[in-house]
Amino acid sequence: MAARGTESVTNSFCGKKRRSMEKFLTEFDLLKEETGLNYTNFHSICAALFQPHELEKEERRLEDIFNLFDGDNDGILKGQEWKIFIHWLRVIFEPITALLVVDVQNDFIDGSLALRRCGCNQDGVDVVEPINRLIRKGHFDNIIYSLDWHPENHISFHENLHLRELHLDSKVTKENAKPLSTVIFAEPYMEQILWPKHCVMNTWGAQLHKDLVIVPHSEQVRKGQHPELEAYSVFFDNNSKNSVELQTILRKSGVTHVFVCGLAYDVCVKATCLDGLRLGYALAVIDDCCRGVDTNNIETTKELIIENGGLITDSNTVLSLVNEGKRSLIMSHQSAKAMTSILSSGTPANDSETIDYI
Ligand SMILES: [Zn+2]
Repeated sequence: MAARGTESVTNSFCGKKRRSMEKFLTEFDLLKEETGLNYTNFHSICAALFQPHELEKEERRLEDIFNLFDGDNDGILKGQEWKIFIHWLRVIFEPITALLVVDVQNDFIDGSLALRRCGCNQDGVDVVEPINRLIRKGHFDNIIYSLDWHPENHISFHENLHLRELHLDSKVTKENAKPLSTVIFAEPYMEQILWPKHCVMNTWGAQLHKDLVIVPHSEQVRKGQHPELEAYSVFFDNNSKNSVELQTILRKSGVTHVFVCGLAYDVCVKATCLDGLRLGYALAVIDDCCRGVDTNNIETTKELIIENGGLITDSNTVLSLVNEGKRSLIMSHQSAKAMTSILSSGTPANDSETIDYI
């Protein structure tokens, strides 16, 4: 499943990551626990791990990470706390990465839901080249493409409004509903934005854009196949219950770091990022490789991703993270939160399918 060229390249890359971890542990005298680790020493270790500009801007995160590990609050990481810290270092040094390319499909670029006609001056085709560059140059362990993939009678289509009853609570009636109106369906009770018919399975509109590079042996995940359920997130249908295949793929490869790009920024990319963060992945959204529907909603999306522990970044930074072994403090903070929430509760944070860190 590795997306890199050959097995030997993959092995040598992993070997390099492992050697640099062992060297780091030796340099900082961390091969075995002696007297535990205080905050001053933790701080010096982090100064060697992260970029100075990020440390300067995000210094409060170091304290927060230390406090997350320091379960008994005595200012020293020891015993189990020390083990978690070492495990965190390992995840930082040997991340398993996935590039998730969301819905780069004809209908969102040139078809019925072309972003360039949505009024915010964005064009879906503009993500293709920067994403191709990432795919060609980035040493990702996995590359996964998602596809919005609906049956003809899907609930989200404005054209299908006559197939279902609206609830009395719905301010918009069948008579005055237009594409992009929000209605409330009666059974089950559910709010829904009505989109023009799009991404009907096995049609041209649902195909990935012809210029998008598809890596051999990569995975493709289809979502929104149930006629009665909307599915913005690649992780779950909108009812957050029906899990789709993405979690299985990520868990099988032990993915720790997810990089998200694609369409539409403020709809499916947004929902995917928020679910990924909730599940405990260190996650970054690649801003220059996303385009959306509405300018204000794109800004709100970024704020929400930041608030929930995600990194907003660009493709050059992502290449430095996955190719040069650079590390993001924000993503590492998220890993620390996920690891400690699993341990402190005894069960995963919010969902039984949360990433297995330990
Ligand atoms: Zn859809």
